[in-house]
Amino acid sequence: MSHRVTLIPGDGTGPELVAQARRAMEATGVDIEWEVVEAGADVMDKYGTPLPDGVIESIQRNRVALKGPVTTPIGAGFRSVNVALRQKLSLYACLRPCRQYPGIRSHYRDVDLVIVRENTEDLYAGVEFDLGSPEARQIIEMSGGKIAPDSAISIKPISETGSRRIAKFAFDYAVANGRRKVTAVTKANIMKFTDGLFFRVAREVAGDYTAIEYEERLVDNMCMQLVQKPELYDVLVLPNLYGDIVSDLAAGLVGGLGVAPGANIGDDAVVFEAIHGSAPRYKGMNKVNPTALILCGVMMLRHLGEDDAAQRLEAATAAVIAEGKHVTYDFKPTRDDPTAVGTKEMTDAIIAGLAPAAGTLPARR
Ligand code: NAD
Repeated sequence: MSHRVTLIPGDGTGPELVAQARRAMEATGVDIEWEVVEAGADVMDKYGTPLPDGVIESIQRNRVALKGPVTTPIGAGFRSVNVALRQKLSLYACLRPCRQYPGIRSHYRDVDLVIVRENTEDLYAGVEFDLGSPEARQIIEMSGGKIAPDSAISIKPISETGSRRIAKFAFDYAVANGRRKVTAVTKANIMKFTDGLFFRVAREVAGDYTAIEYEERLVDNMCMQLVQKPELYDVLVLPNLYGDIVSDLAAGLVGGLGVAPGANIGDDAVVFEAIHGSAPRYKGMNKVNPTALILCGVMMLRHLGEDDAAQRLEAATAAVIAEGKHVTYDFKPTRDDPTAVGTKEMTDAIIAGLAPAAGTLPARR
């Protein structure tokens, strides 16, 4: 059966990574019809927006997308395409498995964490008021001296509905995937209403899942614990900002951003994308690691019901990593290791190691 999937190459190193992930997925033999649509900094001039309507429409139609990273300018320019996509499509759950593959150089062993990040609320809601704006002045006045008069202001909304939805997602994921524990993470000792609400709702939801252990951690302590004993943790559920930061931390534990895939999941669509960004300084250099996007492809194949292809692609990727020969610079002992291969060559090695599809005979030699 053919699957129709939206493909967003992104910008920076996105297009070269997405091209390789696409090649690796196609090499499994699964029939995918790609609908390629453009978004990001590079299409601003062409469409007058980094997120043309056609992108949203394509994802709504196909319900599945593979997306390369998209650059977000800091401080000025357009708002984040990534955040806009998640909000417009109501992709409320961000799922980021951080699993350590044998062969990856790391101070840790057997780390196997799953980060579930709320994707639509919190400080990412985009409710911000600039220094000197009438809204900022109004809020400063209402604060009764708590906010300095020369402040810019970001608002942090956390809803009961959003918290319940993400907590349920984390517990359902734990049950469906044989995980043992869910840890909710916030800073509720300081943000008593917003983060306090998140904890309260997570606790209520936990009551419906008696087979799964539940615990709570404050985010600062969580970061320290993850660095010291990550093996104690399993599924973590967090509001948006903490989820973003802790995802990078967890990716660091298992070998860096080059290896960590992700999915943005809603009731009507799923967009698969790596944790890492567009790494623009490596653009066009055939240098960065394709693993994260290829593992996004593995997640996507599973989502499409192509379990055999997903398993074969993951095994071939793990084998190349374990051998440590045909891998990019970030998997080598030193960053300037002359034996490092490029994005394409690492993908070539993964494709060369793909087992034949179940039920097919290997080619005769
Ligand atoms: P980044 O993840 O792009 O890169 C940081 C560093 O991580 C790189 O310099 C590189 O050393 C390493 N790295 C990243 N991807 C790698 C890979 N595949 N292989 C090997 N090493 C890799 O983070 P940044 O520099 O903070 O962000 C660059 C841009 O990307 C920003 O505009 C940011 O907003 C955007 N961004 C986009 C997304 C997304 O599209 N979902 C996510 C994060 C950041």
